[in-house]
Amino acid sequence: MSIEVSKLYFAYDAAPVLKDVSFHLGKGELLAVLGPNGAGKSTLFRCILGIESGYRGSVTLDGQDARSLSPRARAARIAYIPQVHAHAFPYSVEETVLMGTAHSVSPLALPGREQHASAMEAMEAVGIRHLAKKTVSRLSGGEQQLVLIARALAQRAATLMMDEPTSSLDYGNQARVLERVRALADRGYSIMLSTHNPQHALSYADRVLALHGGQAAACGTPRDVMTPALLERLYGVKTALIETETGLFIVPGKKGRENCV
Ligand code: ADP
Ligand code: MG
Repeated sequence: MSIEVSKLYFAYDAAPVLKDVSFHLGKGELLAVLGPNGAGKSTLFRCILGIESGYRGSVTLDGQDARSLSPRARAARIAYIPQVHAHAFPYSVEETVLMGTAHSVSPLALPGREQHASAMEAMEAVGIRHLAKKTVSRLSGGEQQLVLIARALAQRAATLMMDEPTSSLDYGNQARVLERVRALADRGYSIMLSTHNPQHALSYADRVLALHGGQAAACGTPRDVMTPALLERLYGVKTALIETETGLFIVPGKKGRENCV
């Protein structure tokens, strides 16, 4: 699945939130969307997901105008993965993941063998099969996020959209969730995720879209676009990039402690 966004312009009221945003998401690619609070990341997701349709420009999914697709046809192509919220799911992991198959079941029917098989496969893909009978609200934040990813996989859409999937997770769970997400991209899923941590983009993404003031401040491979100048423009902090044996790392503060307060 591919997404092509071209010259996207959107305003909730008079002031535009997105101005002339263009980018491409290819099959098997992980695109990280960066940008300070209010930059328009969630709005961009909402336009692609069809929650907002009053935009100018175009969003095409595999060459088809997204606005021409019914909600069911859209759900067959794109799955949205929400952030984890405490106590949101008083269901078992298996039941929650099965909910992802709802669009493939007729309104009054119960999930059948095919839906159960999809749910099992999805739990397997993110390594939570052993949690199937557990209640979601009793799991760790990281495990809950993996349940929501499995639910999206059970939807059998080839594109996954995640708006800040790691923002409520601790350090270890952030890494565990992102490792799983990276593995899904390597299996061919197209993935778009927003994050407040530019290091996530550097460590896991194939490409980065940086939004600033509703415009694409940069779009390209992490190594090409993630410069100290871009990070200062986006977040107003000085940083240095340090190359190590395991990759490139962002260190805040130009001379070590300059940004510390
Ligand atoms: P981000 O996800 O990057 O933090 P958002 O897309 O949520 O940014 O918000 C972009 C801008 O749009 C902000 O100025 C925000 O206040 C405004 N905005 C977001 N949602 C709405 C809405 N439903 N109605 C009006 N303005 C909104
Ligand atoms: Mg947001």
